[in-house]
Amino acid sequence: MYQYKRSSELFDEAKKYIPGGVNSPVRAYKSVGGTPIFIEKAKGSILTDVDGNEYIDYISSWGPMILGHAYPKVIKAIKEKVEDSTSFGAPTELEVDIAKLIVNMVPNIDMVRMVNSGTEACMSAIRVARGYTGKNKFIKFEGCYHGHADSFLIKAGSGASTFGEPNSPGVTPGTANDTLTAKYNDIESVKEVVAENKGEIAAIIVEAIAGNMGCVLPKKGFLEDLRELCTKEGILLIFDEVMSGFRLAKGGAQEYFGIKADLVTFGKVIGGGMPVGAYAGSSEIMNIVSPVGPVYQAGTLSGNPIAMIAGYTLLKELNANPQLFTELADKTEYLHKGLDKVLQASGFDYRINRCGSMLSIFFTDTDVVDFDSAATANNAKFPKFFHEMLKRGIYLPPSSFESYFLSNSLTYEMLDKTIQAAKESLEAMK
Ligand code: PMP
Repeated sequence: MYQYKRSSELFDEAKKYIPGGVNSPVRAYKSVGGTPIFIEKAKGSILTDVDGNEYIDYISSWGPMILGHAYPKVIKAIKEKVEDSTSFGAPTELEVDIAKLIVNMVPNIDMVRMVNSGTEACMSAIRVARGYTGKNKFIKFEGCYHGHADSFLIKAGSGASTFGEPNSPGVTPGTANDTLTAKYNDIESVKEVVAENKGEIAAIIVEAIAGNMGCVLPKKGFLEDLRELCTKEGILLIFDEVMSGFRLAKGGAQEYFGIKADLVTFGKVIGGGMPVGAYAGSSEIMNIVSPVGPVYQAGTLSGNPIAMIAGYTLLKELNANPQLFTELADKTEYLHKGLDKVLQASGFDYRINRCGSMLSIFFTDTDVVDFDSAATANNAKFPKFFHEMLKRGIYLPPSSFESYFLSNSLTYEMLDKTIQAAKESLEAMK
């Protein structure tokens, strides 16, 4: 029987000193209730909490641990690097190495600028798009999340939806005015917004595969139509690959779907678990960035050597072993089929969406193709399923608006254990 005594004590203590007891809202378990689990350590796909409970991890630190926790080569590289100091705020050879590798792995980019989070990457990409096009407005999709910069907190998914605060206080009406929203998978809604704001739109930013309203796949033709519209209207197409980058494929969603974006943003895998983000594009666009061009963007700790060595080591591993992406997708498909079987047998209404190694279960009778349909699954069944799984040692994202991120350190035995746990959990929910 799992006990959460120490986690519970720590959570009470944490709430005194940290807002809500957590440093990022989704961790607080607000939408599922109960005590968030405080983690002690992790290895491969197994998490150990402060009470000594073990779990099979389907969050993978929200993506970065694509090859599992404490991946030996990454840990070794960090240990060696840290002896040379933790930061210089000056250029290093390693930054050149990782930039070259990224440009090599990702299609359609000549240059990359490293930052410290996905938020920074997306915020900077929008600034670059505005500077490059000389236009102010941009379009984002309802339910897509691009970080917590002011201009993105309009109909954002993920934690912002979990908390029912899509329009956060603190975001000024002036800022909100320049953020236009359209419906994911609905090109007509995009065309309408473009027509109403003719000549004023700098960029369309999209999660090519949405992961912040649960996992939602682009309908056939949607991304192609977006590309065509952007080219026709002189709008830059930004793929937010913070989740999909180096996960769906070596070259991310651009490679996976064969569609060219003008700018791409990265996070998660790119830092191997360290706080890293990046944005990238053609040299024509990227040369507008300071110090070459007038668009200012900076970071004291950007390109930090410890973060860079973690990311570089992980990316090199992925680059040298592209079969890892197939292995991981195969494992995810195996899980998908197993879950499908037990869910079908349970009699509950459900949908499973999957792309590569991202997957979500939605307790709904509606196909989930956009934010409105995703919201139909934000119901009482989700927290029940979450807690039944947790009791059985399966660590799932604590919100119906999040995707599972599988890691290649998951074994088929672990996947079988997860499917069995799902079967028992669904029984217990009846
Ligand atoms: N874009 C996407 C698609 C994300 O999923 C996230 C975070 N989950 C971000 C941007 C923001 O990244 P960060 O939390 O590192 O600021």
